[in-house]
Amino acid sequence: MNVRIIALAVLGLTAAAQPRTQGEIVYKLSFADAAHHVADVDVTFPNVTGTLQARMSRSSPGRYAVHEFAKNVYDVHAFNGAGRELAIARPNPYQWNVAGHDGTVRIAYKIFGDLIDGTYLGIDTTHAHMNLPATLMWARTLDDRPARITFTPPNGSDWKPATQLFATADPWTFTAPNLQYLFDSPTELSAYALRQFTVKNPDGKTFTIRTAVHSLASDEDLDAYAAGVEKIVREAGAVFGEFPEYEPAGTYTFLADYLPWDGGDGMEHRNSTVVTGRGSVRTALGTASHEFFHCWNVERIRPQGLEPFNFEEANMTDSLWVAEGFTQYYGSLLLARAGISTPKDTVQGFGFMAGAVITGSGRQFRSAVEMSRMAPFVDAARSIDPTNFDVTFISYYTYGGAVALGLDLTLRDRTNGKVTLDDFMRAMWKAHGKPGGPQPGLVARPYSLTDIRDRLAEVSGDRAFADDFFNRYMAGREVVDYARLLQRAGVLMRKRNAGRPWAGNLRGAQDGGTRLSVLVAPGTPAYEAGLEQDDQITAIGGEPVATWTQVQAAINAHKPGDAVTVEYKHRNGVAASGTMTLKEDPAVEMVLLEDTGGTPTPEQKAFRDAWLGPHAR
Ligand SMILES: [Zn+2]
Repeated sequence: MNVRIIALAVLGLTAAAQPRTQGEIVYKLSFADAAHHVADVDVTFPNVTGTLQARMSRSSPGRYAVHEFAKNVYDVHAFNGAGRELAIARPNPYQWNVAGHDGTVRIAYKIFGDLIDGTYLGIDTTHAHMNLPATLMWARTLDDRPARITFTPPNGSDWKPATQLFATADPWTFTAPNLQYLFDSPTELSAYALRQFTVKNPDGKTFTIRTAVHSLASDEDLDAYAAGVEKIVREAGAVFGEFPEYEPAGTYTFLADYLPWDGGDGMEHRNSTVVTGRGSVRTALGTASHEFFHCWNVERIRPQGLEPFNFEEANMTDSLWVAEGFTQYYGSLLLARAGISTPKDTVQGFGFMAGAVITGSGRQFRSAVEMSRMAPFVDAARSIDPTNFDVTFISYYTYGGAVALGLDLTLRDRTNGKVTLDDFMRAMWKAHGKPGGPQPGLVARPYSLTDIRDRLAEVSGDRAFADDFFNRYMAGREVVDYARLLQRAGVLMRKRNAGRPWAGNLRGAQDGGTRLSVLVAPGTPAYEAGLEQDDQITAIGGEPVATWTQVQAAINAHKPGDAVTVEYKHRNGVAASGTMTLKEDPAVEMVLLEDTGGTPTPEQKAFRDAWLGPHAR
């Protein structure tokens, strides 16, 4: 036994003697400076042994880039239990260490926040819109302690609280069983408008679904939003056959914020979602649909890598193509099943989604699994140095959505509709979501890539099929034969610009000139000719070009298969040339057979209805 292990063993004994669940962490938030977008936060950590290591988070569940929430914290003071001010040490930008206390440490600080979305803190005279990882300090080693939080609204305000935190006898005080639950609980304090309805599980348990909308919307718009949400919620319930047992008194809340100065966002949580935007709440049902599906898929059916969530680093998982991509697919599918979007619009959307994967150059380099691992660099991430993600990356929302569409159609095709993607989602729910965890906010059985493959083998009853599908389309970079599968539903996948010559998805500069303003995708005729962003095209096929219109006309004068010379200058002025062997524009679209002059057969109609038609009773 080396010294380090002995030291850990001693720590273990100490921890056993003083259970860490003792000593509720108490937060007090007040908003006297709301006009300046500032909150006063006061947190007391009792039963502290050793140096307290207080932190601001660097990450937030559901947003995968690193965020430095510490940057907006200032005027920090620490006190012991007797109220004597203590020295604070700063070992790194995110941490405040407090030693020499009497077992109690109280920290008071101010925090600025003026972004209304699902990730940050937004405070003004109309509300406090709080994502708690962006708002609250926490302390290392105290994750499993319960928390109590009291809000004090500005004097004379008409605010009221909306949150998935657990209510107490005091309407302004709430609790959370542990840090994971606390930080999963966005909280809105405002004069929001409330609507609610109930849903029922097969076992008779009922749940309350609330829409709490802070906006300038009319009562009519608020009613329309709640009515649309209700249709979506019932269709989502039909996919899984039951609703999760929402923790705070069986309640799930849509925390909606639609004001002209808001950011556009949707952020999922266990028992609530934050949905924000600048437009009318009435047109925000797509976001509601996506986010509500997450109360199963990602919140409870949780991928490994996100459980428990690490608030100190970026969190990486192999499976955002399921967690976000399958959710993206169902977000659209539920709108169709709820009658909110038409089959025509739904398949058109599927066409954009699958088309981006079928033709996207990113698929030459990364699978759906590998795209998922990019999340910390692409999900609300900002970088100073350029990337070539435009030509090497496809969003795991899009990629996963296309995989979901392909898998749903494949399962329906091979079983004549007896097995569908709904069955797969239900199998994931039963194995990984429904078993729950030791406390609200914790998931005991997060899934791996192997679990995805195993659940697919179970629902399809065919291990070889599951392995093949997984290896080719999930871990591999192939795409299913969408055109053949869609025929079963009377949907045509066709070339959007059949016969049109294509050198790549090129774009000229804003001034109408011939300088390329976008990265050139590998594998395109323009790439083969050596062209790249910032090159200035000077001639095509020997004919000089001076405007982007002339570039397009010169390409369009040819046919796919033609070899065309292109002359250009690099940004350093050096002249170059190459040959583009033009292709047919690969862009595809999906359209209903009847919109192309055809007539779906009764079998095609039945297949389509079972897929896109209503499922909720
Ligand atoms: Zn999502």
